[in-house]
Amino acid sequence: MTECLFCKIARKEIPSALVYEDEHLLAFKDIFPQAPVHLLIIPKAHCESLGDLTTETATAAARIPQVAARLAADHGLQTSGWRLLSNNGPDAGQTVFHLHFHLLGGKPLGGKLCQ
Ligand code: 5GP
Ligand code: ZN
Repeated sequence: MTECLFCKIARKEIPSALVYEDEHLLAFKDIFPQAPVHLLIIPKAHCESLGDLTTETATAAARIPQVAARLAADHGLQTSGWRLLSNNGPDAGQTVFHLHFHLLGGKPLGGKLCQ
């Protein structure tokens, strides 16, 4: 069994505030939210990053924008706007090495993607 944190969340061995689940994807609230709405969307199958996609995880990950748009609408962000991003590797600041996308919204998020 993998020690990966998000694999454990996907297997429900570690609790999370789930907001969406289907056969291949899971979404839950970030434990340290950076915005009023801060969700993480992951493929259930382990994959380190976008540089490590398999056929299975690529198929699942391809649906993430669609799921994000639905979750954004569900959280009242359709008009105000929202951001979907994925940190891949050390220079991007990735801290959990199971592919995930951050869905952020609920306040002005700023225009800068890097500092
Ligand atoms: P990264 O820095 O890798 O792009 O994003 C990892 C995210 O996972 C961070 O925003 C962090 O707050 C979140 N996170 C870390 N540990 C946990 C946890 O145990 N539960 C939840 N829900 N989020 C976590
Ligand atoms: Zn994992």
